[in-house]
Amino acid sequence: MYTMESIDKKIQILQDIINDSNSIVFFGGAGVSTESGIPDFRSTSGLYNQEWKYPPEQIVSRTFFNHKCSEFYKFYCQKMIALDAKPNSAHFKLAELEQKGKLSAIITQNIDGLHQAAGSKNVFELHGSVHRNFCVNCNSFYDASFILEQHKIDSDGIPHCTKCNHIVKPDVVLYEESLDNNTIDNSIKAISKADTLIIGGTSLVVYPASGLVRYFRGKNLVIINMSPTDYDKNSTLLIQGKIGEVLSRISVV
Ligand code: NAD
Repeated sequence: MYTMESIDKKIQILQDIINDSNSIVFFGGAGVSTESGIPDFRSTSGLYNQEWKYPPEQIVSRTFFNHKCSEFYKFYCQKMIALDAKPNSAHFKLAELEQKGKLSAIITQNIDGLHQAAGSKNVFELHGSVHRNFCVNCNSFYDASFILEQHKIDSDGIPHCTKCNHIVKPDVVLYEESLDNNTIDNSIKAISKADTLIIGGTSLVVYPASGLVRYFRGKNLVIINMSPTDYDKNSTLLIQGKIGEVLSRISVV
């Protein structure tokens, strides 16, 4: 494992790894989007360290959605939908790696859609997306702008279906809900076949998502994260830094 080298040396090693790889999978989390201005959960400026009437981990649970829907939407619309956010260098570099045939899949815990906005095609969204919302009764589809508008004009702040008046729920996996089986299967397949796995911007503490990393059988396990993770000891290359800054220094040939 390379640990003591300078950041320049580590980026050169990452460049060499990428040059030699043909099937890279990227596994990421909220830290990938902090450089786009979206707060993560567990950094010091993250949502878990901000003052709310209820702890954020409780708010984003299914029980809370069912029983305190109005409070849920207050937090969700203020803190989890960021339609003005733009992809950053990390999103763009990963899209470029896919375009050049180097990267086979992105597996993300993020719900912001920024990988697709940057041009990535094969993206597995483990926790869903703010851009998809469905009526709990008739399954009608609504986009994120609808949710924000309805939250603003509805007296209780809860978006309702324009066809049957039932509640509209984001296609986001809340605590106590299961992940989509197809998305998990596809993620496992991609990770199992990868020659290089780059993990970035995730504390790797949210299960079962982080457990997917165990399926990696390839050569290079790269971790790019601001703070330490339990998987650091298993990495072949560990870069402690901002993922956008690090990936912006990689050339794709
Ligand atoms: P987390 O908040 O638990 O951890 C974020 C990690 O990223 C931390 O270890 C932090 O040190 C690191 N980090 C922050 N900025 C970074 C940067 N610029 N470069 C490199 N590392 C950086 O996030 P998680 O592990 O993804 O788990 C939180 C859950 O919250 C996920 O399930 C996700 O769905 C959800 N979430 C999503 C968004 C989003 O869609 N953008 C935002 C907040 C939370």
